Amino acid sequence: MKKYRVEYDRESCIGALTCIQEDPENWKLDEEDMRADLKESKKDASKQGYFIKEITEKELPIYLKAAQSCPVNVIHIIDLNTGEELI
Ligand code: SF4
Repeated sequence: MKKYRVEYDRESCIGALTCIQEDPENWKLDEEDMRADLKESKKDASKQGYFIKEITEKELPIYLKAAQSCPVNVIHIIDLNTGEELI
C-alpha cells in the first residue's frame, strides 16, 4: 500500500485554523500558543519546529484538503514511494 508523510512546519503556523475546520479529527488548537497541533505526530529530529506523521493512501484526501486550506503553506505531504512533494 502507498504511504505518505505529512510534514508540518508548526513554527510557521499563524493560527489561521482552517486546517482544523477542514479536518477536526486530525488537527486541534493548542490554546497556549494558538497554533494547530497535528494529532499523533512526532517531532522531526532533522528539522527544527517540524512535526511528521505517516499516513495511508486512504487518509491522503483529508490531509490534502487541510494542507490546501492553509494560507501560509506550512503543511506538506510527501509521497514516500517517489519522494515527490504533493504540496
Ligand atoms: S491552516 Fe495553516 S496556519 Fe492555519 S492553523 Fe492550520 S497549519 Fe496553522
